[in-house]
Amino acid sequence: MPTNFCRHGFAVASLLVTLLTSATASAGRTASAGRTAATTDGSSLITVVIDAGHGGHDRGGIPGQRIPEKEVTLDVAQRLRNVLAASGYRVVMTRDSDVFVPLATRVAIANSYRNAVFVCIHFNATKRMGAEGIETYFYSRDSLPLASAIHYYVVGGAPSANRGVRRRGYYVLRKTSIPAVLVECGFLTNPTEAAYAQTASYRQKLAEEIAAGVRGRNSVASAVSTTRVATSENIPLQPYIDQTKVAKSSHHRSKHSHKKSARRKKSSSKPAGSEASSALTDREG
Ligand SMILES: [Zn+2]
Repeated sequence: MPTNFCRHGFAVASLLVTLLTSATASAGRTASAGRTAATTDGSSLITVVIDAGHGGHDRGGIPGQRIPEKEVTLDVAQRLRNVLAASGYRVVMTRDSDVFVPLATRVAIANSYRNAVFVCIHFNATKRMGAEGIETYFYSRDSLPLASAIHYYVVGGAPSANRGVRRRGYYVLRKTSIPAVLVECGFLTNPTEAAYAQTASYRQKLAEEIAAGVRGRNSVASAVSTTRVATSENIPLQPYIDQTKVAKSSHHRSKHSHKKSARRKKSSSKPAGSEASSALTDREG
């Protein structure tokens, strides 16, 4: 862990050094304000709809993956619920046990609440064991502040690489009418990150950082956009496949349905070089 932490810590630091100079003050205010967020944050009570990825026959990840993604997503989601509830938030879970919930149902649950935000918890997977890091997805412009804030805190609190805030039309992000974010909390196919994910204290840390992002969704976002780290202008929309159709066609195979938005061919050669280009080929877990 020390070697890994230092290597990634440097990358994370490169982001944070820039951010912290302008964001420390606002983030500090957010942290303290978060404790009374339910009554003072915005105009009224905020509901957080937490979506634990996969479940039931949908194990998540890729075929042959040792750690079931559905189990760690649920654990982080339940920990996040506890943290947010302790802060006074009203929390709704799309699932609270090992059951399969269709994507459309998850969206319907989210859209039944007003003055709410939607947070999807996932872990990544790919055949390339070296793939690593945390990435956060959004689709609508209204979701960018929440995505930036959650990513800011999770990357800051995790010894993993920063894969950035990304815009992609995942079904649960496209169809939700409230601000919606999907967090990929690391690669379960990466031995180091898998070891983290299997540690309760690390999953608790993830939950606390995601909660910090929810609390800081307004103040951190403004700091991030002013440093040009994650503005909507510099985040291109990435390709996707309609996941409702994918989910139906691959229902019996427990596919990682939300990930099928990454249109990729198995025969395509893996681009070498930047993390950004290689990231496209990692989109299967
Ligand atoms: Zn997933």
